[in-house]
Amino acid sequence: MEWSVRNANYEKVLAVMEIYLSERYAKICNCPRCRNDIAALALNYLPPHYYVESENHKDLGSPWVMVETAVAEAIDRVVEYPNHPNEPKVA
Ligand SMILES: [Zn+2]
Repeated sequence: MEWSVRNANYEKVLAVMEIYLSERYAKICNCPRCRNDIAALALNYLPPHYYVESENHKDLGSPWVMVETAVAEAIDRVVEYPNHPNEPKVA
C-alpha cells in the first residue's frame, strides 16, 4: 500500500525554519546536522498533527505563533549544544 500519513506541523516547522535561518538567525550554523536537530527539537516541542492526506481533508497543524516559538527555542538549544564539535563550516 501507499502511505499518505503526514504531519502538518512538520511542514510548518520547515517553513518557519526557512525564514528564520535566512533572516533572524542568519548567522548560526546552517549545516544539515544542525538543521535536522532544530527540526526534530521543534517537532518534539509541538503536539503531533498527523493526518491522512486526501483531497477533502487537510490538518492545518498548530497555530503559527506556537510553531515560531518552538523553532526559536530549538534554535537556541542547538546553538548552545551543537551536536558537532567543530566551528560552523561554510558549505
Ligand atoms: Zn552545524
